[in-house]
Amino acid sequence: MSVNQQTHTGPPYGQPQPGYQGYQQPAYGGQPLPGVPHSQYGVYNGPMPGYQQPVPPQGSVRAPSTSGTSLSSGHLGYSPFGQGDVQNGIPASTAPMQRPPASQPFLPGSAPVPVSQTSMLQQYGPPPASVQQLSNHMAGMTIGSTSTSAPPPAGLGYGPPTSVPPVSGSFSATGSGLYTPYTASQGPLPPSVSQGLPLAQPPFSGQPVSTQRLPTQVPGFASPPSSTGIGPSSYPPTTGAPRPPTMPGPPLPVQTAAGPPTSQPNHVSSPPPPPSTLSGPYPGPPMSGLRGPPPPTHPPQPGYQMQQNGSFEQVRGPQTNYGGAYPGTPNYGSQPGPPPPPKRLDPDSIPSPIQVIEDDRSNRGSEPFVTGVRGQVPPLVTTNFLVKDQGNASPRYIRCTSYNIPCTSDMAKQSQVPLAAVIKPLATLPPDETLPYLVDHGESGPVRCNRCKAYMCPFMQFIEGGRRFQCCFCSCVTEVPPHYFQHLDHTGKRVDFYDRPELSLGSYEFLATVDYCKNNKFPSPPAFIFMIDVSYNAVKSGLVRLICEELKSLLDYLPREGNMEESAIRVGFVTYNKVLHFYNVKSSLAQPQMMVVSDVADMFVPLLDGFLVNVNESRTVIISLLDQIPEMFADTRETETVFGPVIQAGLEALKAAECAGKLFIFHTSLPIAEAPGKLKNRDDKKLINTDKEKTLFQPQTSFYNNLAKDCVAQGCCVDLFLFPNQYLDVATLGIVTYQTGGSIYKYAYFQLETDQDRFLNDLRRDVQKEVGFDAVMRVRTSTGIRATDFFGAFFMSNTTDVEMAGLDCDKTITVEFKHDDKLSEDSGALLQCALLYTSCAGQRRLRIHNLSLNCCTQLADLYRNCETDTLINYLAKYAYRGVLNSPVKTVRDALINQCAQILACYRKNCASPSSAGQLILPECMKLLPVYLNCVLKSDVLQPGLEVTTDDRAYIRQLVTSMDVAETNVFFYPRLLPVTKADVDSDSLPAAIRNSEERLSKGDIYLLENGLNIFVWVGVNVQQGLIQNLFGVSSFSQISSTLNTLPVLENPFSKKVRSIIDMLQVQRSRYMKLIIVKQEDKLEMLFKQFLVEDKSLTGGASYVDFLCHMHKEIRQLLS
Ligand SMILES: [Zn+2]
Repeated sequence: MSVNQQTHTGPPYGQPQPGYQGYQQPAYGGQPLPGVPHSQYGVYNGPMPGYQQPVPPQGSVRAPSTSGTSLSSGHLGYSPFGQGDVQNGIPASTAPMQRPPASQPFLPGSAPVPVSQTSMLQQYGPPPASVQQLSNHMAGMTIGSTSTSAPPPAGLGYGPPTSVPPVSGSFSATGSGLYTPYTASQGPLPPSVSQGLPLAQPPFSGQPVSTQRLPTQVPGFASPPSSTGIGPSSYPPTTGAPRPPTMPGPPLPVQTAAGPPTSQPNHVSSPPPPPSTLSGPYPGPPMSGLRGPPPPTHPPQPGYQMQQNGSFEQVRGPQTNYGGAYPGTPNYGSQPGPPPPPKRLDPDSIPSPIQVIEDDRSNRGSEPFVTGVRGQVPPLVTTNFLVKDQGNASPRYIRCTSYNIPCTSDMAKQSQVPLAAVIKPLATLPPDETLPYLVDHGESGPVRCNRCKAYMCPFMQFIEGGRRFQCCFCSCVTEVPPHYFQHLDHTGKRVDFYDRPELSLGSYEFLATVDYCKNNKFPSPPAFIFMIDVSYNAVKSGLVRLICEELKSLLDYLPREGNMEESAIRVGFVTYNKVLHFYNVKSSLAQPQMMVVSDVADMFVPLLDGFLVNVNESRTVIISLLDQIPEMFADTRETETVFGPVIQAGLEALKAAECAGKLFIFHTSLPIAEAPGKLKNRDDKKLINTDKEKTLFQPQTSFYNNLAKDCVAQGCCVDLFLFPNQYLDVATLGIVTYQTGGSIYKYAYFQLETDQDRFLNDLRRDVQKEVGFDAVMRVRTSTGIRATDFFGAFFMSNTTDVEMAGLDCDKTITVEFKHDDKLSEDSGALLQCALLYTSCAGQRRLRIHNLSLNCCTQLADLYRNCETDTLINYLAKYAYRGVLNSPVKTVRDALINQCAQILACYRKNCASPSSAGQLILPECMKLLPVYLNCVLKSDVLQPGLEVTTDDRAYIRQLVTSMDVAETNVFFYPRLLPVTKADVDSDSLPAAIRNSEERLSKGDIYLLENGLNIFVWVGVNVQQGLIQNLFGVSSFSQISSTLNTLPVLENPFSKKVRSIIDMLQVQRSRYMKLIIVKQEDKLEMLFKQFLVEDKSLTGGASYVDFLCHMHKEIRQLLS
């Protein structure tokens, strides 16, 4: 019947929005205004038709066909769908509007090259268009000469290393050299130079970046000193940060020479490099150490600089700020005769993530991304852009590793590029984009292919005057049901094309019929059950009281459908330690009643009537209960808890109520009390780097796997809030959460004062966010490829259906595809993701996302249409799953090997002929090495200092559900110089690269990775700034235990706090704020996030890793 604007199953602020912070404002505590729930949050400031005024689910506003009411014309671009009866006949004329001929998208053979793409190619001129050439020689080039063997003159140590002339000089040089052969300016490289490069080194011997072997690990890259000297640790004197235990001896002064310094012409600026620098910096013996296999005499190639295309300009960007960096670095110079550094790649001349991000923003941020074209690569996740759905799903729902798939499996294997899609079926859209429309076909349900059951979509071909349609997935021909018949126009297109979302849009929803429901019965609205640990630690820390207080107001913000006045979700309450307490909060009671179940071995729910209730009806009793709980357990001495029975109790309660739902469990300790699912402490850090390390990630009992399976069958999703003071086995406790599609949160050493804001923000968002229940997702593909593997938080009982007790707007599922036949360039490849779920009001729906991709017979087309951020998302998930079954080192080596193969295949088949000594990267993958290195250095694959077993299990679980934007910032954090921010503008300061050498002692920086925000304060920051930001008069008075910035009335304070607020609302979790003073203890922790540097636990620096990759690639090519 009618096609409606989809009702919102969740509040608009499900996704952090600028206004989200408003949440914490007084308004929150206030009474919700019925019917206008969201406005209080001030979330979507500004008029956003779709959001601010949610349309009633079936009401007049949404204009169901039956009622004949029509949507106000202002209702989003797609008004036609909202108007009148779309089902039959041609709807209002408004429809055809801005849509260009639909054929455009899928014309066979049209294989359009994305516009932006083309332009980029042009930019990079050289033939293999996207080629990024990186000649190792170039590195040598930047470094003047290696000739001298004399020790570096004292004092030159640091600044000088850059043989390159001062900033301007060095860059202009490179700039001009962009497309000119290296030789032109530099002449042939001295042999020594090339030798200095890692590539020349003896085989890396397969232990690229192995953790424990600090000193040795990077031997292949450069002389030993350099390897150790790289990275933060190398600057001990200045930083004063405690040295990691592993670091042997005093820092090698080398470092300076080693990597960074050379690269930093800018830094040098403070003290202009003495002329001597040119030769001085690299005088040392070390050269010999570097020698490897005979350096090929590579004629200088244009390569390096060229690929850098953007990098030079970059200098004017963030880096410029650093002109004055390291003003006080004299220490470096004073280092005792450091082994002279080998020449290294100039960090400024290797691909810069910041530059790539900036370029994409400026090239693609201004135009809307219109999805009408097949195989179009979307802008990067770091770019703000508007999406217009014209037949393919928005990249907010689906992103692919490549938008051009090899036609044959042989080609795919040859390239080693994984073919995967990262799907976020319920993604929250920005306010100015249109939510998927809800299509109601009445009792007949959605129209589907008879054979493969694919849902009607824009790619189905209508034939025989519209009486039948041919499936775009399996080619089967299906009769068009009489009620769905429509004539075709002269182009063969249905005349109602534009009026039906399922014919013209990439994403839409169908109202499901009873056939799509469990037991052929429409579902009841879901329930939320709050289960609170009331053991000694939880009570003593104030947690129990905090939760109860919060719930009193939070219960008024349960997700509701559209603009329903109240949520349909019922609530229930349980408290527990070694036993469980259920509460009867029936509205007719004067006081809540408690029922204790001490037989935890055989869990049952002692009451049905009065356990799950409507908040408004039982408000008084609920408030009374929440007031009483903290008092009831105030004097508890019970320290032991159970855990398995808690989930069982929630599950049984939902079963009894015959509904799906979510358990919110607030838990503090390892469940050692006698009960099913009892655990023992089996943490053992000695297992790290052994073959048994994988057991740390595996659950210690199968009990929870079995329980998870039962939960999924019932649609019981489990969200877990953990507050551990010691090991509590996240790997085991998290299983149920993981397999039911739930979320996990961990607040180690929870302290009320410092952690409550973070916890409460997470809880609020978690309770309110859009979520579907009892969900099943299936991905169908056109002939030739099929979905073969899945990554994410879900359960699978067969090979095709991804089951989730709950699926919220933040969760992604990464799907890998393999060939099972040949593809054709003409027809391309199609994906259709269908998600069946129950909305928060109990409505059964199908959400459909379609995406069409190009297919290619030339590898170059594959490499031109890849998306590295998505590739990294896939690779990280693949690796993080791998650690369950293989030694971590094996997993890491496999990752490196696969990426080397990807890049080697490109080099061999797509790049123009060039010397073997050159590293040539595909333009679209030029960041693959730096990002891959970040994944390899992440805590799961290479634990940092003080990272616990629980931390690793936790991170592993989080990453598995992350979308591409989240993995991007998680692995390569965003670093912002806030002292450079313009206090008069709303914009963020330009980000800079994650390396210590980019930090200036005179500045303050923010670094965020989606879980933490660090505020790093340099020792030389002006007193005035410190006063303005921290309210104290000197650096030494800044307290590093602060977890929030004081609210001070001055422009700088306001600006920094507003930036932090802005970052917070962009992330799905409230980030922990940590103040780091330069040279303070905490700085070690901070440095682990400077991912371009060598890490304290042995992770390679970007420069070193790039060299290593180059070597691996060369080996594959030889
Ligand atoms: Zn079919």
